[in-house]
Amino acid sequence: MPPPRTRGTALRQRLADLRGPGVQAKALDARALAALAANPGCRRRAILDGAGVDKAALADALGVPSGFGQSQFAFMRGNAFEARVKADGGAELLRLVHRTLDPGAEPPGRAEVPDLTAAGPEGRVARTALALREATGAPGGTGAWTLLDHPLLALDVAGSPAFLEPDAVVVHPDGGWTVVEIKSFPMLDGSADPGKVGAAARQAAVYVLALEEVAARLDPAPPVRQRVLLVCPKDFSNLPTASAVDVRKQRAVTARQLTRLTRIEDIADALPGGVCFSPGLPAAQLTAAVETVPASYAPECLAACELAFHCRARSRAAGAVTALGRSVRAELGGLSTVDDVLAAAHGEAGDPGDPAVAALRRAAALRTEALALAAAPGADGPRDPARAGREVSPCR
Ligand code: SF4
Repeated sequence: MPPPRTRGTALRQRLADLRGPGVQAKALDARALAALAANPGCRRRAILDGAGVDKAALADALGVPSGFGQSQFAFMRGNAFEARVKADGGAELLRLVHRTLDPGAEPPGRAEVPDLTAAGPEGRVARTALALREATGAPGGTGAWTLLDHPLLALDVAGSPAFLEPDAVVVHPDGGWTVVEIKSFPMLDGSADPGKVGAAARQAAVYVLALEEVAARLDPAPPVRQRVLLVCPKDFSNLPTASAVDVRKQRAVTARQLTRLTRIEDIADALPGGVCFSPGLPAAQLTAAVETVPASYAPECLAACELAFHCRARSRAAGAVTALGRSVRAELGGLSTVDDVLAAAHGEAGDPGDPAVAALRRAAALRTEALALAAAPGADGPRDPARAGREVSPCR
């Protein structure tokens, strides 16, 4: 077996080949990582993200644009709001952290805001780690507040490093570290859209995991707080307000799911030679390339992955029951296609001792019975069997 350094170089070259000549790698951000962790069985997403393929550009080239991404206006509004929150050396941001998460600490006066610029992502990660160590100081902290503006963290994902950039990390006077997420959706009367808050929490949980890896290299390891600060515009104004979000559950789920990801190296090794996902290739060639990697489509992909429309179409064309949702999939046991399900329901296939097959046959019998009743002369029910079937069938 070649030494690890040689293997790492070979893998990087293989991933560059998958992106295509001259195509820059797209960095894996926390949002993508949280979505990846939410579907750990999808090798397609894992290899595309691991290789740094721009999935939105790939979806465009496949002829099924994703519709993902912020409008230019929303992007500029978000940036303007973040700049406002961090203005004046982060005074308002630190005030929010102090008031929301650490009211017992000394109020922040002028905080340290270390310069985190360095060459390349590895340099920025090292600079961030150094700044965190200096800001934490001795056990128990330095007694001062420090704001790290857009630090860069690294997290191992399926054997490849992912670089993650939280909006901010605050080092408390006691040496604890807090992740800050700044979002441009409004907080109305102290609460925000639960779906958006949930997505922000999953994203922040990824940052917490990455920060814990930095903390683990210090002796003693400083505490990484599991309550993050979510900063949003207050009501319909541009004034910042904040809320503490407990991400312990999201952190635990993400950590567990990340360990379930198949190693990028193993997925890459299983691909046929010459596979390339460059968006410059013809759609037919790209479709064939994408199909070389098994996917695990579920309707949840529609809210989380740029390739969702493509994978949904393929999943439906194959009659896969995953297109009906994970809960339906789980109920059907080993039956993986709609044809298998119908054959089992009609008694043409399947083991009668299988609870899923037995339930399907019972449902089919009930449906037949209901249709016969509805079609009987003098019955009060709907006369149109097709309509009746829709109304009573538990397995349409
Ligand atoms: S849309 Fe496709 S590639 Fe993306 S996670 Fe779902 S199955 Fe995987």
